Amino acid sequence: MEEPAVKIERYVSPQALLSEVEEKKSPSSKLRPHIFADYPGQHKASENLKIFVQAATMRGQPLDHVLLHGPPGLGKTTLANILANELSVPFYSTSGPAIERPGDLAGILASLEAGALLFIDEIHRLSIQVEEVLYGAMEDFSLSVIVGQGSSARTVSMEIAPFTLVGATTKISNLSKPFLNRFGIQERLEYYDVPSLIIILQRAARCLGLELEPSGAREIGQRSRGTPRIANRLLRRAADFAQVVSAPSINKQIAHRALTSLEIDEYGLDRLDRAILTVIGERYGGGPVGIETLAITLGEESATIEEVYEPFLVYQGFLSRGPRGRSLTDEGKLLLARQRGNSNDGGSA
Ligand code: ADP
Repeated sequence: MEEPAVKIERYVSPQALLSEVEEKKSPSSKLRPHIFADYPGQHKASENLKIFVQAATMRGQPLDHVLLHGPPGLGKTTLANILANELSVPFYSTSGPAIERPGDLAGILASLEAGALLFIDEIHRLSIQVEEVLYGAMEDFSLSVIVGQGSSARTVSMEIAPFTLVGATTKISNLSKPFLNRFGIQERLEYYDVPSLIIILQRAARCLGLELEPSGAREIGQRSRGTPRIANRLLRRAADFAQVVSAPSINKQIAHRALTSLEIDEYGLDRLDRAILTVIGERYGGGPVGIETLAITLGEESATIEEVYEPFLVYQGFLSRGPRGRSLTDEGKLLLARQRGNSNDGGSA
């Protein structure tokens, strides 16, 4: 039997850490941009959405339902909030796991004002019963709910005010076809390039009252895995380092020191990423290895590896996914060999 590895806490997890959950819940947080003009990157999605918002406003009708998909931390919640602001409509936010029963959802939908935007995060985690209530609501703004039990059970139908549903998911493949078909607008968010992350970091530094030099912004941006949530987090940690050594600003040296102490390498990979690559390379001869085996070896949930860690390793070209499992690419093998070389040279990598 494989021995599970020690679970590693990550500074480069794209999921919100406990300290960031409040920010995640608060759409009005000052770190979150509130208008398209303050939302760099995601050009394709932003440009499309701007046009759809403009057209809906001109028609005086609610925006069609929107599905935003892509890895965590790329700005789906932020974009939903921007849509509500740009449409000048009220914003309500909930999540798939928070809506347990069809009645919970019916209650939310029945209380929405006309034109409101309802954001459901992790929409792939809605139960099928709840999802079915959503179908009628999305299609013709009607609700059919079963009230009572056994022989006294009956279906009650009612009309609700027109609204816009914005769903966010990291796992679009878990949504059924009929559900997907009900979203007239579907946009995939991509990892950010470094110039966009630098703009995001500079804005975040202004919001947090931090002095960030261009060289420091570049250093952090390059190691943030294309993910604004990680960039903002690494900025805070670099600010801690600057404070402790009484540096007047965060420059390249300070950022480099902070990120090296957190064991984040020049690609934004941390110990867990390297552990994934090392396990595939050294225990499984470069792969392919099945996701479940990998998860047991690493002591992680397979869903977490699949949704959170792997996408960036695949995006960076270190890992490939095939029908028989995960394999190292030539790039991945080279990286491992370089790391081995570094540790043989003295182990400072
Ligand atoms: P998701 O919903 O995709 O997990 P969030 O919208 O919660 O991601 O964004 C995570 C963090 O990154 C938030 O602090 C948010 O302010 C910031 N962020 C995301 N996208 C952008 C962007 N394009 N510009 C500035 N900040 C961003």
